[in-house]
Amino acid sequence: MLDDNSAPNGKRISLNPSNCVHCKTCDIEDPYQIITWVPPEGGGGPNYDGM
Ligand code: SF4
Repeated sequence: MLDDNSAPNGKRISLNPSNCVHCKTCDIEDPYQIITWVPPEGGGGPNYDGM
C-alpha cells in the first residue's frame, strides 16, 4: 500500500505485474473475493516449458 492523497482513504494498492507467475493464488485466497483473475496472453495464459 502506498500513500496517495487523491485516494479516498489516503492509500492505494500498487502491484508489480512483471513479477506475476500466473499462479492464481491471489484470486483463490482473496478473503473478499473481489479479484477477478484472467489469464494473460489472449486468454490462453503462459505456456511454461518444463513445469
Ligand atoms: S497470480 Fe496472483 S498470487 Fe500468483 S504471482 Fe500473480 S499476482 Fe501473485
